[in-house]
Amino acid sequence: MDKLQNSLQGVKSRIAEAAHQAGRDPRDILLVAVSKTFPAAAIAQVYAAGQRDFGENYVQEAFDKIAALSQLAIVWHFIGPIQSNKTRPIAEHFHWVHSVDRLKIAERLSAQRPAVSGALNVCLQVNVSGEASKSGCAPQEVVALAHAVARLPRLTLRGLMAVPEPTDDVHLQRTRFEMLAALQRQLQGSGLALDTLSMGMSGDLEQAVAAGATIVRVGTAIFGSRPGPAG
Ligand SMILES: *Cc1c(COP(=O)(O)O)cnc(C)c1O
Repeated sequence: MDKLQNSLQGVKSRIAEAAHQAGRDPRDILLVAVSKTFPAAAIAQVYAAGQRDFGENYVQEAFDKIAALSQLAIVWHFIGPIQSNKTRPIAEHFHWVHSVDRLKIAERLSAQRPAVSGALNVCLQVNVSGEASKSGCAPQEVVALAHAVARLPRLTLRGLMAVPEPTDDVHLQRTRFEMLAALQRQLQGSGLALDTLSMGMSGDLEQAVAAGATIVRVGTAIFGSRPGPAG
């Protein structure tokens, strides 16, 4: 087995163990392999090991890889910040968008989703760490935003996503994931049929699974470290 296939198996084992610890079925947790900054050839190797869902952050980079790998049955997830002038390629080439944090973006994605494609699956990104600089809508804005997005014709609102600030404080990290899960229950209680909690990355997937994650987005632990300090 090659290196990437080994690390993919390692991540799957971590998810299975975390699910076991939480009394959950590992099959209820989808792994999205975050391939930003890595070439199409690396994605093809991980695909060959059975992985089907891949996440990308940058539109142009993703677009080139999607074109290069168009023969493979990949489910593409857009997980990066969205500029309003970049919504069209996202609406045309992705199956999921995890990082919707304002109505204007959702409206553009819905309007630009091609009629031949099924509805675009979206999650609302919530800022659960409270820093002014982070993307994601404020927790107190989520209910209104969710109901507005749920009414858009070419989108299917699936749930919530968060990227909490990294911290060594496991308890604090867990608290933030639980906050997202609580918001999700609040939305479900207000009549929205949501099934997705997208949270947990290489460093904290165990806490996310314990708090109810149904999608974990894992890059480094599969592909290795990315160039640059912030990745
Ligand atoms: C890069 C990224 C990930 C993956 O992070 P790792 O720490 O490399 O696992 C997950 N989610 C988002 C939104 C990202 O930008």
